[in-house]
Amino acid sequence: MFLTRAAGVTAGLVGLAAAVPGQAQAAPVIPAAGTAQSNWRFCPKCYSMFFFGYADNGRCPAGGAHTAQGYNFILPYGGAETPNAQSYWRFCPKCYSMHFEYYGPGPCPAGAGHTEQGFVFVLPHDIAAPPTSQSNWRFCQKCFVLFFYGYADNGRCAAGGAHSAQGYNFVLPHA
Ligand SMILES: [Zn+2]
Ligand SMILES: [Zn+2]
Ligand SMILES: [Zn+2]
Repeated sequence: MFLTRAAGVTAGLVGLAAAVPGQAQAAPVIPAAGTAQSNWRFCPKCYSMFFFGYADNGRCPAGGAHTAQGYNFILPYGGAETPNAQSYWRFCPKCYSMHFEYYGPGPCPAGAGHTEQGFVFVLPHDIAAPPTSQSNWRFCQKCFVLFFYGYADNGRCAAGGAHSAQGYNFVLPHA
């Protein structure tokens, strides 16, 4: 069953699918072939999740462009919300950050508000984390981006100061 399922996916997703056996709660995390995008990364300057697929790396609220560190996240998009997956997460083509659009545009480090482009991501939250996932990703109620809440200082926010966590604990799949 796994070989069949893995056959049509990208190289980046094969490793993800291989981690599924034995993980009873893995179903909401594992995207079907063609419904996830890789190259999402953590920025160690601002702690935001940003898309690393373009040469200039967007705009970082800590100054200059984002830099990439750590895991290569593979984030699911499309489909409906579930009790453990939230929709309305989008790419901002100005700063490259993953942000929540439902409340309207949060402040963008590239000026004015975030804008939306491309896929509508549906991100898993509040589930038991499979080995190839990282928890502690949160919504910032000040700038609306997705940021890593695993360090004491909470990075740098486009609304000033550090990010401020609210709501769900996102558990995000990576390679
Ligand atoms: Zn950054
Ligand atoms: Zn932005
Ligand atoms: Zn923020």
